[in-house]
Amino acid sequence: MLYPEPIERLIDHLTRLPGIGRKTATRLAFFLLNAKDTYTSDLGKSISEIKERIRLCSRCFNITDIDPCHICRDEKRDKTVLCIVEEPSHLMVIESAHPGIYRYHILHGVINPLEGIGPDEIRIPEMKERIVREGIKELIIATNPTMEGNTTAHYISELTKPFEVKITRIASGIPIGGDIVYIDPLTIKSAIDNRRSM
Ligand SMILES: [Zn+2]
Repeated sequence: MLYPEPIERLIDHLTRLPGIGRKTATRLAFFLLNAKDTYTSDLGKSISEIKERIRLCSRCFNITDIDPCHICRDEKRDKTVLCIVEEPSHLMVIESAHPGIYRYHILHGVINPLEGIGPDEIRIPEMKERIVREGIKELIIATNPTMEGNTTAHYISELTKPFEVKITRIASGIPIGGDIVYIDPLTIKSAIDNRRSM
C-alpha cells in the first residue's frame, strides 16, 4: 500500500469508474484531498442523491426525479405518437434535435437472443399496454440500426399489427457532411434503399 488507507480506498473506488485508470484515479484523489470541504461534501451529496432521488418514470421509463416525468407531463406534445428508444441517453439525443415534440417509451435494452434477452426482459409489454391505454396512432422506432436494434424494430412492428398503429423506422444512411467514398457498403445500400423524392 503506497498511500494511507483512506486514500487507497478512494483510489480503488475511482478506478472502477469507466475510463479511469490508477494514475488518473490517484490524481483525482489528491485533487479531492486538497479541495475545499464544501466541494467534497457537495460532491458526496450529489453522488448519494442520484441513488435516492432518481428513478424511472412509471409511464415512459425515462430517468426522472418526479413521476410522471417532465416529458410525460408536457401537455403540448402529441399524445398519439410514441418514439421508441433503447436507452434514456438516446431520448436525450433525439430531444435535443427535436425538442418538445414527441412522447417516448424507453425499452431499456434490445432483444438479443444470444444473451437470453427476449421481449419480456425489456419494456415491450408496457409499451403494448400504452398503445391500448393511450390510444397511440404512430410508433417511431428509433432503436439503433444494429442487428439487435433491427430485430427489436421488426418484433415491435409484428406485435403491433392488430392495433392499426402506423409504424415508422428512423432512416439510416450517409451522415450530414459525410463523403460516400468513406461509407461502408451496407450503409450505402440502406441510403439508396431509403432514398426519397426531391
Ligand atoms: Zn415519462
